Amino acid sequence: MGCEAPLDADEEHICKYCLDHLPTTKHWEQTNNPIEQIFWGKLQVVSAASYLYFSKGGIVQEMLHNLKYNHQLGVGRLLGKRFGAELAKTPFSDIDLIVPVPLHKDKLRKRGYNQCDPIVEGLSEAIGKEYCLPALKRTASNESQTRKGRYERWLNVKSLFKAVEVERIAGKHVLLVDDVVTTGATLEACASALLEVPDVRLSIASIACPALV
Ligand SMILES: [Zn+2]
Repeated sequence: MGCEAPLDADEEHICKYCLDHLPTTKHWEQTNNPIEQIFWGKLQVVSAASYLYFSKGGIVQEMLHNLKYNHQLGVGRLLGKRFGAELAKTPFSDIDLIVPVPLHKDKLRKRGYNQCDPIVEGLSEAIGKEYCLPALKRTASNESQTRKGRYERWLNVKSLFKAVEVERIAGKHVLLVDDVVTTGATLEACASALLEVPDVRLSIASIACPALV
């Protein structure tokens, strides 16, 4: 992926050059970064960050596409590990438990895996904290909402997720993980479900975000 150069024996999925030149956001070095700002006034978030910027046709989009649709789970693990190595040096290392945004069960059946799971595994390995999958489940499909009013839609999204591993989550500082963050609506709905569990503190991490959030 990336420059399409043949890989050396010690390289996986992507060459060292491309890996060293990924478009990182450096959000984790920035308080009040653009990802944290998405959730201002909506959620109590300890820290939030995205690892990379994606652009149409760029290398990040290619990697995430292969992770999501071509069973390249190793790409997710690799990105999770790289991101985790950065986060381990920051206040993010204070987290206790890492959980993915769940995939709707119809999609899960069709695809066979949640693309966030390998990202979570990579993060867990690099930060040295445990993970829990799945920790949330989708209570309903969020399709066919177009005929509903704004408030009804909001209510519907709010109650889309439910924490299923309440005992493991209670009292923890949870890192919620998604592959891409755009509007933050899905992350917000998951986060609300996690924050209903007693004494949870919440941080958010995604692999990629658009260049201008
Ligand atoms: Zn390359």
